[in-house]
Order: sequence, then structure tokens, then C-alpha cells
Amino acid sequence: MTGEYLTRSAEETFGLARRMGEALGGAAVFLLAGDLGAGKTVFAKGLGAGLGVDPDEVSSPTFTLVNAHDGRLRLYHLDLYRIEGGAAEIYDLGLEEMLSEADAVVVIEWAERLGSFAVPGAYRVAISDLGGDERRIEISHAEHAE
Ligand code: ADP
Ligand code: MG
Repeated sequence: MTGEYLTRSAEETFGLARRMGEALGGAAVFLLAGDLGAGKTVFAKGLGAGLGVDPDEVSSPTFTLVNAHDGRLRLYHLDLYRIEGGAAEIYDLGLEEMLSEADAVVVIEWAERLGSFAVPGAYRVAISDLGGDERRIEISHAEHAE
């Protein structure tokens, strides 16, 4: 699953993430980083699709900060864009419980805002806009990359 990918459309990014979702057999964490409009939500929708969640249900959880979806595995989708309180607010979201839940997949947009909150064993997904519809998607795994 790790590596560097180049996608040329939202559908390709969706498909890449869907295949990753399909390959999951248990708990996993994805830390998504990238600017506004990079494609983090597209990636989260694809992951959800791979878990059997309707992609139309997966949208940026603007006010709630976290949405839960029940597919083949439970998907927790967080967006930390609006997080202001730092670590305290992250604890309040119940992230620790989500991370310790068996068979839960946790996908976090704006994972940069986790600050020093460490998530061992997570996949880091860095998406950069190369212009037009091109995106570079670098996927690394803490156990391998560090
Ligand atoms: P983010 O959640 O990172 O702010 P979104 O996923 O909501 O971004 O939006 C990404 C936007 O970029 C969508 O409008 C999507 O259609 C468009 N887009 C164009 N090319 C791509 C691509 N290769 N991968 C992902 N999204 C793309
Ligand atoms: Mg988003």
C-alpha cells in the first residue's frame, strides 16, 4: 500500500483509496495531509467505498468534526481543519477510544493539526496538487518510514 502515486483525476484518487479500503482486514489509521482542495475528502470517500460505505454519505464533517459510518468495518472520518484547542480538543473528540476500537478504520483530514499526538502504525497520506487535475499521493507507514 505504501509508495508514491500520481493520479490524473478525482476518480483515479478515489479508485486508489477504494483498493486500499478493500484490502483492509482490520483496524487501520490514515493520516491525510494536504492543502484545501488537494483531495483528502475524495480519498476518504474512496476508502469508505472499499469498506462498503456509500461515498455520498462520506463528506467533510464540518461542524461535528467526526462522523461514523458502518460498513464492512466501522469508519471514523475526522476533519481537524476547525480544531482550535490543540491536544485537549483532540482528546475530547474521543480519538483514543476510536484508535483502540477493534476493527475500526480511522481516517483523519488535516492530520497536521494533531501536533505531537502520535499515532503508532498509522499510514501517512500526503497529497500535493501538481496543477490541473494531477495529484501526487505519497503513502508511508510509520513502521517502515521511521
Ligand atoms: P480536500 O478534502 O483535500 O480539501 P476535496 O477532496 O474536498 O479536497 O476536493 C478535491 C477537489 O479536487 C475535488 O473537487 C476533486 O474533484 C478535484 N480533483 C481534481 N483532480 C483530482 C485528483 N487527481 N484527485 C483528487 N481530487 C481531484
Ligand atoms: Mg476535505
